[in-house]
Amino acid sequence: MVYDPGNIFARILRREIPARTIYEDDYALAFHDIAPQAPIHVLVIPKGPYVSIADFGAIASPEEITGFWRAVSKIAEAQGLTQEGFRLISNSGPNSGQEVPHFHVHLFGGRTLGSLLT
Ligand code: C5P
Repeated sequence: MVYDPGNIFARILRREIPARTIYEDDYALAFHDIAPQAPIHVLVIPKGPYVSIADFGAIASPEEITGFWRAVSKIAEAQGLTQEGFRLISNSGPNSGQEVPHFHVHLFGGRTLGSLLT
């Protein structure tokens, strides 16, 4: 997939636009979603140029993949969600409604997540 370096999350990574960042390491950046759908709604993005999980899983290095998912786990723990539970969602492509073409995982928590979608 062709990566658009002008997408909004690429711009957040380059600090061209602000985000409420809660975590950063070599592999991931995490920030609060601007339109939260749960008491805790965090987006976790890799630092590399991947359009979606289809791209990330296919072409990211093992180190990047491991580093990214370890960051997701750390963020869930740091948000206090490990005991009560949480949900991860990643939209990929048109049928999913993916709006931003930079791979990201939504982390939802802080309430009972009853329905399949948020
Ligand atoms: O998975 P999808 O691409 O639809 O989700 C994009 C998410 O990015 C939305 O939940 C939207 O609220 C969020 N967003 C954001 N900050 C921006 C632009 C979009 O948190 N500046």
